[in-house]
Amino acid sequence: MIDLRSDTVTKPSPGMRQAMLAAPVGDDVYAEDPTVIELEQRVAQLLGHEAGLFCVSGSMCNILGVRLLVEPGQEVVCDIQAHIARAEMGAHGAVSGLTMRTFPSSRGRLQLAEVAKIIAPSAGPYLVSTAAVAVENTHNFGGGTIQPIEELTAVGQLCRDHGIGYHLDGARLWNAHVATGVALEAYGRLFDTVSVCFSKGLGAPVGSVLVSTAENIARARVLRKRLGGGWRQAGVLAAACLYALDHHLQWLADDHVAARAFAEAVAACVPAAVEPDAVETNVVVIDTGAAPAAPIAVAAAERGARVSALGPHMIRAVTHLDVTAEDCEWAGQLVGKLLSG
Ligand SMILES: *Cc1c(COP(=O)(O)O)cnc(C)c1O
Repeated sequence: MIDLRSDTVTKPSPGMRQAMLAAPVGDDVYAEDPTVIELEQRVAQLLGHEAGLFCVSGSMCNILGVRLLVEPGQEVVCDIQAHIARAEMGAHGAVSGLTMRTFPSSRGRLQLAEVAKIIAPSAGPYLVSTAAVAVENTHNFGGGTIQPIEELTAVGQLCRDHGIGYHLDGARLWNAHVATGVALEAYGRLFDTVSVCFSKGLGAPVGSVLVSTAENIARARVLRKRLGGGWRQAGVLAAACLYALDHHLQWLADDHVAARAFAEAVAACVPAAVEPDAVETNVVVIDTGAAPAAPIAVAAAERGARVSALGPHMIRAVTHLDVTAEDCEWAGQLVGKLLSG
C-alpha cells in the first residue's frame, strides 16, 4: 500500500529508533532533560531566535505562539485556508478566547494587499482589535505553496508599522527552505513566533518546536503546562527530532521530485486536474472537477494507493520518506485513470 494521505504517516527508521534509545533524559517539567534542551537550543538558533519550546504537536505550538501575541478578546488574522483556522479544532477560540478573521488567497499564497485590507489594529471600543497576523509556509491546503520571501518581509513590515505580532506556522518550513535555498534563519527572523514540525516530512514520530524571545518562551512554558502539555523524559522524542535534522532534512528535495512525478502522471490523464508546474514542494492538490473526491479516494485505496479527499472535489497527496518517486508515479497514474474513467 502506497500511503500518500499525509507526510505524517512515516514510521521512525532504525537509525532514528537507535538515537531515541540512546538519548540522555531528565524531567522536562523541571527543564532538566538534556536532549530536549539541546533540541530547543538548536532549533532556536537555526531560526534566529533566543529560545525554543518542544511540544507534542504543531497545533500546540500554534496555539501557544498565537496566544503569546493575542490576548483573549483580540483577533488574529490569517488566510481562509489556514491550518490554524481549519484544522486546530477551534482551539484558538475555544481555549485561548481569541477570534479570527480570514482573508482570501489563491492556493494559500500570501498577498500584502489582502492583509492590509483586513487588519484593524487598535480598533477602539467598538470593533475587535487585530493583535497579530499568522501566515503558513509552506501552505498545506494551498498545495505545498511557498510564500515568497519578499511578500513575507512586506507583511512583516506592515505588522511592525502597526505594532501587531507576526506568527509563522512553519510546520513545513523545512520544505520551503530546501526548495528555495532561503536560509531558515532568514525566514525565522521575520517573525515574533515560529512553529516548526518534526512529524511531517522530517519523519519523527512526535514533536514540534515553538521559537521566540526568551521572555515569550518562558510564558509559553506556563501556558503549555496549563494545557496539560508538560511532559517528563521527553528526550526520547527530542532525540528523534535531532536525528531528523541530521539525517532526514537533506531528503526533502527527493519528496519534491516525487510530488512532481505524481502530478505529472495525473496530468497526463487529466490535464485540468493539476498543473504540475504549480507543485512547489511535497503536497499535490488535485481538482476532481465534476466528480466527487471521496469515491475516487476509496477506489484508489482499494487498488493500492491512499490519498485524502479533503473537500467535495479536492484530493490531496503528500510525498514523504517512506515512498519512492516510482511509487508516486504509479499512484499518480492510478488516480489519473480513476479521474478520467
Ligand atoms: C500538520 C500541520 C500543523 C500541525 O499539526 P499537528 O498534527 O498538530 O502536529 C500545523 N500547521 C500546518 C500547516 C500543518 O500542516
